[in-house]
Amino acid sequence: MHYQSILDDIVESLRPQLGRHGEVADHIPALARVPAERLGIALRTCEGEEAAAGDAGEPFSIQSVSKLFSLTLAMQYLGDDLWDRIGREPSGDPFNSLVQLEFEQGIPRNPFINAGAIAVADRLTSRGDAAAEVLALLSSLCDEELQVDEEVATSEMDAGYRNLALASLMKDFGKIDNPIPQVLEAYFRQCSIRMDCRQLARAAGYLCRRGKHPYRPDEAVVTDRQARRLNALMLTCGTYDAAGEFAFRVGLPCKSGVGGGIVAVVPDRLSLCVWSPALDENGNSHLGMEALEMFVAKTRLSVF
Ligand code: GLU
Repeated sequence: MHYQSILDDIVESLRPQLGRHGEVADHIPALARVPAERLGIALRTCEGEEAAAGDAGEPFSIQSVSKLFSLTLAMQYLGDDLWDRIGREPSGDPFNSLVQLEFEQGIPRNPFINAGAIAVADRLTSRGDAAAEVLALLSSLCDEELQVDEEVATSEMDAGYRNLALASLMKDFGKIDNPIPQVLEAYFRQCSIRMDCRQLARAAGYLCRRGKHPYRPDEAVVTDRQARRLNALMLTCGTYDAAGEFAFRVGLPCKSGVGGGIVAVVPDRLSLCVWSPALDENGNSHLGMEALEMFVAKTRLSVF
């Protein structure tokens, strides 16, 4: 398959729509300044072939895409004990909703809504510096040194009232072990890591390789079973409360973030990342979803 021309075609055909749909996230002030007129896409196959188009080399704030990698670390460390305090069902509610958490006694529906990712950050904090570990894992997976965007991290800490409320509610239910400021700092810093599409496409490579490191095939990042589970969670819970629509239109395990990035996996074939900052009403990149839909239509690569 000629991936480079497929990605070039996708970017060319979506370019006229840049800046026309959706809004850049503004609940984090530093993110509100990102220009909407950007579109990048990159992929890396299991054989190591790469293709990239548009703004694929421009770094952005990975935000909720980081939840995939913090969950990976928590799976490595805790195995199935992780699920004592976190569910595995789609939430059907906005990513930062408090209502369901109150009803369900401080047990988040899944690890990809904010409450779930904060619970994961708490479990990682019990073992050390959670954000530094996520950063180190990502740097190893994409084989490049990465950085936290300090301005975004500070902006999240200053404006993160809803996340403070989620963490406080879980603490009240006895589901958070560590001091809330420490847990939230870890969560905000992992969300503030900057990466570009090429780096994220590489980093997600273990998910299409049955858990094997994208650059060191003898090394398992997670087991085959864990990789399958990560993909299942991405498919059912990875795109806020539009996971059904993603399965319907794209049919690939995906994880999105409010920075406009979406990572997607074609098991046993390739991993890819698309980025465009303007979001739809569910918080997913509007053109990112269009690009993924075009990608599966052109390549016929979908799990269905
Ligand atoms: N740090 C962001 C927040 O808590 C992450 C949200 C997201 O990307 O879904 O608002």
